Amino acid sequence: MPGDNETDPADSRTPAEISLLLELIRRPSITPDDSGCQELLAERLRNIGFECESMVFGDVTNLWARKGKESPVLCFAGHTDVVPPGNLAEWRSDPFEPQSRDGNIYGRGSADMKSSLAATIVALERFLNQYPEHAGSLALLITSDEEGPARDGTLKVINTLQARNEHIDWCVLGEPSSSETLGDIIRVGRRGSLSGMLTVKGIQGHVAYPQLADNPIARFAPALAELLETEWDSGNDSFPPTSFQVVDIQSGVGAPNVTPAELKARFNFRYSTVWEHAGLREKTEALLDRHRLNYDLQWHLSGKPFLTEPGQLIDATVQAVREVTGVDPELSTGGGTSDGRFISPAGSEVVEFGPVNASIHKVNEHVRADDVVVLSRVYERIMQLLLTD
Ligand SMILES: [Zn+2]
Repeated sequence: MPGDNETDPADSRTPAEISLLLELIRRPSITPDDSGCQELLAERLRNIGFECESMVFGDVTNLWARKGKESPVLCFAGHTDVVPPGNLAEWRSDPFEPQSRDGNIYGRGSADMKSSLAATIVALERFLNQYPEHAGSLALLITSDEEGPARDGTLKVINTLQARNEHIDWCVLGEPSSSETLGDIIRVGRRGSLSGMLTVKGIQGHVAYPQLADNPIARFAPALAELLETEWDSGNDSFPPTSFQVVDIQSGVGAPNVTPAELKARFNFRYSTVWEHAGLREKTEALLDRHRLNYDLQWHLSGKPFLTEPGQLIDATVQAVREVTGVDPELSTGGGTSDGRFISPAGSEVVEFGPVNASIHKVNEHVRADDVVVLSRVYERIMQLLLTD
């Protein structure tokens, strides 16, 4: 178990992965501010032969780094940005001054996902030292806008790469996929996310004269009940059933004797590959029409579902996890959206594998120090399995 003094990067007993992780946590890279994290990574990558390209879009900094011109391209992807720390009083130590306690490293971004970045860099250093003549190419795609709007991050880098015919064959995204112990879950896809912003229009009136008004709350209630009761699908081999959730309803003018003119509702679908998003939109609108609502509905598609079919990348990742951690991983498509939604449509196989996610986005975020070292071994083993004989 690492002791408290083991968080000193200058201490020769500190594993290289941990030293780099501590340096990254000290940079308060709240979205979209990269705070120099990518330059720190690029410096290490240039030392081992990578060509590093900073791609800046708006206030977002992205890093594309590549070593080699050959196919296949194995890319490690991730983000340097972190979510804000939240209530500082609830942190036992400064979120941007990493601390080691009970074998854990505490700090914002320790699990999501600076430990994966540190593990990747050190894995690359070891791998290239051992296999300078490996097959194919290695690459890194790092953004500072994963936790934010994600408009100027991975999506724009992928578009840029596509425009110059640069293709990623295999992508390992270091998102914290593990649930209870490192290695228990590998993500092989994600559900789609489709949001609706609905305005139901009525006629405002005196509560005592309902016949002269048209109450949008009364009109919407049965439609909402039906939306909530609808079984959209029963899922498929790779995805759980599609879920519809209402997240907000607003109406009312604030007086007890007035029925409102308008109701605004927000809802969200997390949907499987059973659906195209257009189909969900049509079915929803048909339901609202059946209830004879006068409405306006704006849609926002934040990510289509994606699924990586069984193949070399999944095989290599499963084997590496089994060998290095001794854990038999479950292949899952659960959780929220990730930047995999931008990488997969370009024709890349994508898996997500990283540390335990129990504390991500919370106060006192932490990662087990030993897990960071083991994670680095898993990444190194994936490189060996895919790029050496
Ligand atoms: Zn993340």
